[in-house]
Amino acid sequence: SKPVRLDKLLANMGYGTRKEIDALVRSRRILLEGKPLKSASEKLPPSENLQNRLTIDNTPIDPLPGFAIMLHKPVGVTCSRKDSGTLINELFPSRWDKRDPLLSPIGRLDKDTSGLLLLTDDGQLNHRVSSPKTETPKRYHVILDRDLKGDEVEIFAAGTLMLESEHKPLLPAEMEVISSREAILTLHEGRYHQVRRMFAAQGNHVNALHRLSIGGLHLPEDLKAGQWRFMSNEDINTIF
Ligand code: URA
Repeated sequence: SKPVRLDKLLANMGYGTRKEIDALVRSRRILLEGKPLKSASEKLPPSENLQNRLTIDNTPIDPLPGFAIMLHKPVGVTCSRKDSGTLINELFPSRWDKRDPLLSPIGRLDKDTSGLLLLTDDGQLNHRVSSPKTETPKRYHVILDRDLKGDEVEIFAAGTLMLESEHKPLLPAEMEVISSREAILTLHEGRYHQVRRMFAAQGNHVNALHRLSIGGLHLPEDLKAGQWRFMSNEDINTIF
């Protein structure tokens, strides 16, 4: 990567306007390897490790552009800015709302759905995971309002199920029955309210929906609802 101007980099990471970053530099609050930076217009040499060498008020800076997060999305939080109520952004530092590029969810979960949600500012990664072409499998734990009829596994596996107001049948989906009102469903696409609509089409109703995994990446057990962590390259590779 090319050398980057510090004020531009930090402004794009939401740390303030270029003027505000200039003020931080002048008051010696930004350190590179422990030494105050001399000028906000300084170009920093390319380095894989810039994030670990720069501090603001003795705190390591946020990840540089090109990062990803895994979140245990709690029920009641919405992925879309159009919805009312608590937005996903409120789980992260508010300066991230000013990042360019923005951190965006990879696909969406309904407000009432919990579980694994990935977010990234990397458009290519987002596309790689969510593109219909890759069909990354997503596993959901489903709790139902009524007993299963018994033919759902077959119906979902057939690849012929048409949802109301859609033009193409659903791709085959695998369902594993846990108990009469509980199942694990694996989808290879992500249509609007898909799991809820699949069960509604069987005369049932989903009482609780939780995403367990995306590809080979499982929601870590120690990540509690509302908690998140940065993804390593290894985490990312686990998806595919
Ligand atoms: N299917 C749904 O109905 N909702 C989700 O949030 C995800 C899959």
